[in-house]
Amino acid sequence: MQIQEEITISVASTRPCSRCPLCAQASTSVHSHYSRTVRDVPCGGRNVRLRLAVRKFFCRNSACQRKIFTERLPTFVEPWAQMTLRLIAAIQAIGLSTSGRLGARLAAHLGISTSWMTLVRRIMDLPTPSAGLVTALGIDDFSFRRGRR
Ligand SMILES: [Zn+2]
Repeated sequence: MQIQEEITISVASTRPCSRCPLCAQASTSVHSHYSRTVRDVPCGGRNVRLRLAVRKFFCRNSACQRKIFTERLPTFVEPWAQMTLRLIAAIQAIGLSTSGRLGARLAAHLGISTSWMTLVRRIMDLPTPSAGLVTALGIDDFSFRRGRR
C-alpha cells in the first residue's frame, strides 16, 4: 500500500478545566490558545495529522510557583511529543515483533511512515522490566585481566 494522501483533523479538548501539573489544583481560567500538530495512527492507509487546539490556563493557587500552564492530555499525547501515544504504541509493537528495517517496511504497509531508527528509538524508550525476586545469582567466566584473580 502506497501512502498517497494525508488527512488533517482539527481536534479540541472539551473539558471545562485542567489541573496544574505542579500543584494539581483545577483551573477554569483560560489564558490563551495555541495550535500544535501531532501524528496519529493511520486511517484507511493514509497518514493522519491532528491539529490540536491546546489551551493555557492560569493557576489560581497563590502558593504555586507556576502561574500559567498548558493543559495536559495524559492518555492521548505527551506535552512535547510529535505523535500520539497510540501511534507510539503501534510503532513499539511493530518494532518489538519485527525490529529494524523489516519493521519499517511492515509499518509502511500498515500506513505508518517511519524509519527503522525510529522503531529502534521507540523500543529503547520502553521501560526495562523488573527482574523480580532474585533467588540465585551466578557469574560465568569473568575476569578483568586474564591469568589474575
Ligand atoms: Zn499550580
